Amino acid sequence: MLVFNKKVDLQTHLKQNCSNNSTIGFVPTMGALHKGHLSLLKKSLENNTITVISIFVNPTQFNNPEDLKKYPRTLENDVEKIKTISKEILVYAPSVEDIYEGKTKSQHYNFDGLENQMEGKFRPGHFDGVGTVVKKLFEIVNPTNAYFGEKDFQQLQIVKKLVEKEKLAVTIIGCPIYREANGLAMSSRNERLTEEQKDKASIIYKTMNEAKKLFGTKSAKEVSEFVTKAFKNNTMFELEYFEIADEATLLTCKRKNKNKKYRAFIAVFVNKIRLIDTISLN
Ligand code: AMP
Repeated sequence: MLVFNKKVDLQTHLKQNCSNNSTIGFVPTMGALHKGHLSLLKKSLENNTITVISIFVNPTQFNNPEDLKKYPRTLENDVEKIKTISKEILVYAPSVEDIYEGKTKSQHYNFDGLENQMEGKFRPGHFDGVGTVVKKLFEIVNPTNAYFGEKDFQQLQIVKKLVEKEKLAVTIIGCPIYREANGLAMSSRNERLTEEQKDKASIIYKTMNEAKKLFGTKSAKEVSEFVTKAFKNNTMFELEYFEIADEATLLTCKRKNKNKKYRAFIAVFVNKIRLIDTISLN
């Protein structure tokens, strides 16, 4: 199992091992791997000659220093999990220096407004950090296909926009959300939850499904009011936002249009730990 800490070493290996008809599948992550990440890796393995995973907690996408400090870092464990799928997967686990070369700053991006909604509103600068690191990683790995989870649906749309705007030669593939048995979307941040919090966090997916059902007959505003009330009645969770938005533009749904695809998005705090989820509505 090969683990590279330096981009030059990874690039040398790729050069030596890629032929003209090889394809490189790439799964960028911040580590603390769970079955959601592994499902992305499996998809990449099925469709590419070579699969690369990056494990890098990107400082420029954290607007909250406490969140960055507490983000789980479990490289050895992660490598063991990757091994259970395939020993052929190449792991790139760089230092901040290897990625940013002394300038740990993000570039400012215009993603045609996608960056101003939801996560962008509540996490200022987050998507500049995401765009910056994803572009740098794409330049290093030069993937044919890159796999991103629908769990971070706004990020997925933004990465597609980045590829379009920067004319990058990579295909972005969105992958379904992998969930715990109780419906909680798998997330590295779940590691910080107690068993009770994990158990009770099933309210998120349950409420999202109820919202989906209601959306068939009610307005977006009525659905939002229902969700707000459901969380007001629960003291363990604090709702940061619930939003029904057009899947393509991510603009808030004011009046339903039957030709558009809508999605619900939610961010919830449990004892300062921030959880997000999303569900397609029609
Ligand atoms: P992260 O390590 O949280 O930055 O996530 C790395 C990639 O895995 C991103 O594309 C995420 O959207 C994806 N991902 C995270 N959680 C899940 C999940 N529960 N199901 C599917 N993909 C996920």
